[in-house]
Amino acid sequence: MARLAARLDENAPGTFFVDDSCIDCGACREIAPGTYGRSDRRGQSVVTAQPDGADGELRALMAVVACPTASIGTSPKRPLDAAIAAFPERLEENVHYCGWHSEASYGAASYLIVRPGGNVLVDSPRASRPLFERIEALGGVRTMVLSHQDDVADHAAFARRFGCERVMHAADAGSLPIERRIEGLEPVALDEELTVIPVPGHTRGSVALLYRDRFLFTGDHLWWDEDDHRLDMGRGVCWYSWPEQLRSLDRLRAFRFQWVLPGHGQRFRAESREAMRGAVDEVIHRLSSARRSAG
Ligand code: SF4
Repeated sequence: MARLAARLDENAPGTFFVDDSCIDCGACREIAPGTYGRSDRRGQSVVTAQPDGADGELRALMAVVACPTASIGTSPKRPLDAAIAAFPERLEENVHYCGWHSEASYGAASYLIVRPGGNVLVDSPRASRPLFERIEALGGVRTMVLSHQDDVADHAAFARRFGCERVMHAADAGSLPIERRIEGLEPVALDEELTVIPVPGHTRGSVALLYRDRFLFTGDHLWWDEDDHRLDMGRGVCWYSWPEQLRSLDRLRAFRFQWVLPGHGQRFRAESREAMRGAVDEVIHRLSSARRSAG
């Protein structure tokens, strides 16, 4: 629970506040950008403007539910029922954003694909009874694809609850009880709609998941940078191999997609698959040039 006594002094005056436990995962800023922003001085989120109207307040309260560290509070208290009921939130077609970020994955985002052939959970949200019940009502989980070792969070609780098969690259699975391990660099089709694409770099066993040639779930491989307003990858958070991560990005050019849905960083929907191709090419060109300049 957020502590009023630890309220950051940069918060705009009013009901909503962020306290000093924020880990800067960015979830609140993506859910309610009109309410939350980043204090570069502190490297934490703050309330930049109190929410306006019922919709604005609902978005601000959804951030309260999603926050992995319970760093957002309201004074006086506001009821959370509607915000809890809003997750998983449909993004487009049958792809949903789960909310309920977990501190165990440093606040990574997770997603649910709802399909007649069996729902797919991409990375692990925080285990919570309301989310379990909402996912149950949407048909449960048949498959859980884990993008890499950092974002597994409460996978065991979801596997217990839904009896789903967990899919992960062997290089990151280690001693985890993963039912299906992907090996090597070749893409693996889970069915006619879903392809697991190994993208080593951030970690050795990082994978992306392509759904219907439209949605690419990228884990911590590729994301939208909220400050620079462009797709990006992070050398400073590359734990395995930067040259390998650049090669993995280049291999993504063989696939068509319109969405990038990451664990960290923000989501990005391009106008078209061709526009996404252009955005990916720009990242490749920029980061490859920077590497050449660095010697
Ligand atoms: S969701 Fe919570 S931890 Fe993440 S940036 Fe916002 S306040 Fe900080």
